Amino acid sequence: MKDTLILSLENVRSYYAKGNYYVKAVDGVSFNIFKGEVVGIVGESGSGKSTLSNVMIMNIKKPLNFIEGKVILNVGANFLELNTLPRQELQKIIWGRETSIVPQSAMNALMPTKKIRDFISDLVKDHFERALNEEEIIERAKQRFTDVGLSPNDIYRYPFELSGGMRQRAVIAMATLLNPRLLICDEPTSALDVANQKLVLKTLEQLRKREIVESIVFITHDIATVRQIATRMVVMYAGKIVENSPVEDIIKDPLHPYSRGLLLSVVTPEPEIKKRGISFIPGTPPDLANPPIGCRFHPRCPYKMDICEKEEPPLKKVDTNREVACFLFNK
Ligand code: SF4
Repeated sequence: MKDTLILSLENVRSYYAKGNYYVKAVDGVSFNIFKGEVVGIVGESGSGKSTLSNVMIMNIKKPLNFIEGKVILNVGANFLELNTLPRQELQKIIWGRETSIVPQSAMNALMPTKKIRDFISDLVKDHFERALNEEEIIERAKQRFTDVGLSPNDIYRYPFELSGGMRQRAVIAMATLLNPRLLICDEPTSALDVANQKLVLKTLEQLRKREIVESIVFITHDIATVRQIATRMVVMYAGKIVENSPVEDIIKDPLHPYSRGLLLSVVTPEPEIKKRGISFIPGTPPDLANPPIGCRFHPRCPYKMDICEKEEPPLKKVDTNREVACFLFNK
């Protein structure tokens, strides 16, 4: 499965400018996404997850700045360095067609006085004009609404006529109209009840299985949800990746102390997690305008050593499929 590279981030730094200082939201992040993968990106609020979702498609708007690194996307037979393309070009040839994003709270951002069909018309004007004409897109939308378990006639309804779960599936249908290779969903289930969460997860799984999308990035603070959908988990802490492992490995044996802390703080019926009991990570995440020197987790880490306060642990391979940034594993 892991052979076709879809997206690669190489040492990416992206900071928010605040007056005369930077907030280092994404700070030296490298990872790959392969065809067929569902990658769950997890971490507490303020860990840089949502910023990373925008960086993955190079949706960089002030005060966010792209500082350095490479964002490389597989487009057809070519690898395009998205960070070298102007925004207009990204809008014309990448967004909606090759990558698509369902931003946080997208389902609540739909204007209640506008029919869904009108949102689709706006999408055509903004992104799809060269790919399909409006009538073709409306036909495609009806089909995609059916694919996500809605009625084709729901495109003629107002958002307020749909439940929260239906609105979220409508947003997913609109984001996937042109079969983007990579779909990025930021907290797509956090505002939903359990039944609707399951429906959204099932919808995403179906879109990938039917190859309407090739790979999915699922951003969440909820490890139990990631377990249900993802094949791999990327754990972020304070703007950095601290662990990147297959989901089953990380659930059974989390390596980084922060990953362990996250798993121990989850209330879940999952037997592997439940048998360890519940505890909480002491302290709070650092201020990313002035992060700690050395390992950013050291002020909260029960395993802290002298080196942890002085040097930054690099993200290193510790097994065929596992990477961790901790001196417990790479001294
Ligand atoms: Fe803890 Fe040190 Fe590992 Fe950081 S590098 S997680 S402080 S043991």
